[in-house]
Amino acid sequence: MDTINKIAIIGSGPAGLTAAIYAARADLKPIVFAGLEFGGQLMTTTLVENFPGFVDGVMGPDLMMNMIKQAEKLGATILYKTVKSVDFSDSNNLKTVLDDGQEMSFKSIIVATGAKPRLLGLESEKKYWGKGVSSCATCDGAFYRGKEIAVIGGGDSAAEEATFLTRFATKVFLISRHDKLTASKAMQDKVFADKKIEIIWNHEVKEILGEDDLVSGVRIANTETKEENTVNLSGVFLALGHLPNTDIFKDALELDNRGFIVVSNNTQTSKKGVFVAGDVKDKDYQQAITAAGMGCMAALDAEKYLRENE
Ligand code: NAP
Repeated sequence: MDTINKIAIIGSGPAGLTAAIYAARADLKPIVFAGLEFGGQLMTTTLVENFPGFVDGVMGPDLMMNMIKQAEKLGATILYKTVKSVDFSDSNNLKTVLDDGQEMSFKSIIVATGAKPRLLGLESEKKYWGKGVSSCATCDGAFYRGKEIAVIGGGDSAAEEATFLTRFATKVFLISRHDKLTASKAMQDKVFADKKIEIIWNHEVKEILGEDDLVSGVRIANTETKEENTVNLSGVFLALGHLPNTDIFKDALELDNRGFIVVSNNTQTSKKGVFVAGDVKDKDYQQAITAAGMGCMAALDAEKYLRENE
C-alpha cells in the first residue's frame, strides 16, 4: 500500500507557512506544496508596516523567506510543486495530484491557496497585458518613470499602489467607480495629500486603448451620466480586489457563491480531515497577520483531528 503521510499544506503564503510551523512543531512532518511562485501575495509587496514585531517594517519577500526558513528548520518539507487536482472522497486517504503527475496521499490537508487579483474582464485588457496593463505596482512600477498612468479601484490596494507609483510616474490618475474611497483612513489621507494623484470619481473603464502594441490611454464612462471620455496615459494598474484560488476544489469542497471555501466550525471545511486558512476562506480581513493567525488555527485543528482519529 502507498504511504499515507500525516499532513499536507497547499499554499506557501503567511497562512500556509504558519500552519507549517505549527504542524512541524507538533511533529506531524508536514509537506508544503509551495507552488512555483512561493510566498503568496507578499512576494510582490514592498514594505509591510503592519506585521507586528518589526519596528521599522519588513520587506514582504524577506518576511516570506524567513517564514520558509523557519518552517524548514522546524521540520517541514517544502516542495516547489503545484497541486493540479485533489480527490477528497475518502477521508482516510486524501489524495493530491501534482503538476508532474505524481500522486500523494494524506490523512489531513490544510488548504491555504490564497487569492488572485480580480480583472476588469475586457478584451483590451488581455491584449495589452504586460504591454502597459499590470496588477502589480511593485513589479512593474519602475517602467513608468516620467510617465502618466492610472490605478483602477478604490480600496486599500488602489490607495497603496497609487501612492507607491508616484515615486516613478509624473501623474497618477486614481479611477474609482464611486464618489468615495473604501480604503482605510490612513491610506486615504496619504492619497489626498499627494499632489501627483488626481482622483477621477464615478467613472468606469470601458476600454484600454493602445498604439503600436502599447497602452496609450483609457476610455472611461461616468457611472451616472454615461458620458464617455478618453484619458491619455502609458500604464494601467488594476487594484480591483481579489478572487479566491479555488478552481481545483470546485468538486471537492463546499464553496460560497463567490468561490470562497465554506467552513462549518473554525477551520473545518465540508470534508473530514480538510481544513482551511487565509484569503481562500477570508473575504473580510485579508491581512497577512489574520492569514497567519488562521494558519495557526488550522494546524491546531488538524493536529486535534489526527490525534482523535489515530
Ligand atoms: P477591495 O477592498 O475589495 O476593493 C476593490 C475596489 O475595486 C473596490 O473599490 C471595488 O468597487 C473596485 N472594483 C472592483 N471591480 C471593479 C471594476 N470592474 N471596475 C472598477 N472598480 C472595481 O480590495 P483591496 O483594495 O484589494 O483590499 C482587499 C483587502 O485587503 C481589504 O480588506 C483591505 O483592507 C486589505 N488590504 C490592506 C492593505 C494594508 O493594510 N496595507 C493593503 C492592501 C489591501 P466595488 O466596491 O464597487 O466593487
